[in-house]
Amino acid sequence: MAPTKVLTGARVVLPTGTVDGGSVTVEGTRIAATAPGPTTTAGTSDTAGTVDLRGHWLVPGFVDLHNHGGGGASFAGGDAEDVLQGVRTHRLHGTTTLVASAVTGDLDFLARHAGMLAELAQQGDIAGIHFEGPFISPCRKGAHDESLLRDPDPAEVRKLIDAAHGHARMMTLATELPGGLDSVRLLVEHGVIAAVGHTDATYEQTLAAVDAGATVATHLFNAMPPLGHRAPGPITALLEDERVTVELINDGTHLHPAALQLAFHHAGRERVAFITDAMDAAGFGDGRYMLGPLEVEVADGVARLVEGNSIAGSTLTLDRAFRRAVTVDKLPVEDVVAAISANPARLLGLDDRIGSLEPGKDADLVVLDDAFALVGVMRRGEWVVAPQLA
Ligand SMILES: [Zn+2]
Repeated sequence: MAPTKVLTGARVVLPTGTVDGGSVTVEGTRIAATAPGPTTTAGTSDTAGTVDLRGHWLVPGFVDLHNHGGGGASFAGGDAEDVLQGVRTHRLHGTTTLVASAVTGDLDFLARHAGMLAELAQQGDIAGIHFEGPFISPCRKGAHDESLLRDPDPAEVRKLIDAAHGHARMMTLATELPGGLDSVRLLVEHGVIAAVGHTDATYEQTLAAVDAGATVATHLFNAMPPLGHRAPGPITALLEDERVTVELINDGTHLHPAALQLAFHHAGRERVAFITDAMDAAGFGDGRYMLGPLEVEVADGVARLVEGNSIAGSTLTLDRAFRRAVTVDKLPVEDVVAAISANPARLLGLDDRIGSLEPGKDADLVVLDDAFALVGVMRRGEWVVAPQLA
């Protein structure tokens, strides 16, 4: 039996609210108990496993729905070791559950790549696969190779779902293209999240996609028409429909802070998911990288295509997104926890195991100092980053 760890004294964000001086007891890989005050380890006098977290925050581990890589390694190409390198990098930044995102590529390549990612999902290294492309709009292609884009064809969508061996979690589609709505229905039938994104859809076309079963907005605001007063577009449709969760990249580059506030006000805290959309340079540094088949230059932490200058993913990690949301955007900590852990966990159907600090769930948690800098990460009961406390 693994030793019991008692984390005590922290401000703990529980599903029922934040408690001061609360404690979380971890046994093995799971949370055994949470308490609003210090826990007496009844029946044992063993205090060796007690960690005093006074002056710190204790929050659930972060869940990233949309992530292309980090630590110099890519989920969109590369081999299993590259993917693990990226996963480890993001774990150091608090992401205890990560969905690996593929970008537009040749269909056969994507199918093979999905097979490799599926093995990693099978082992529990990643929480599944997100296909971003190739069924997206050339008008809103962002950092995707235009020559490889295609209309959504349910038969081809099916080919990718099958290649993922039950680990396809999400697909981003321009649902207004021919075959788009049929593809949404097919995804939903197979338990895969249909996400509207890289789209040129109108307001009405977007509502039709939601009616067909789409439930996520891929990086709301980015790679879609802006909100116009006579053409409210996909942004308005995705924000107003209660069936949709909107992804937001809170890195200070992809979104104006006011746009983030607008999304939070309209969607409410239950329907927002912070994502990184990170590429290889996350947690690594500036320089030249590949995003799928396209070359990217990262300067001052901003990734842009060498050709065309389009923003090409982010170098964000979720600990930075968390800190920014609290310290710059002034969002309540509980709202940030919802957006960064609870909501994405629920979307993935994993909320019985992760996404909140509750007895019985995986011991995935993050320790932050009083300035919201990350000082500790635990995954499945093991410290990935052990807090160095004075
Ligand atoms: Zn992406």
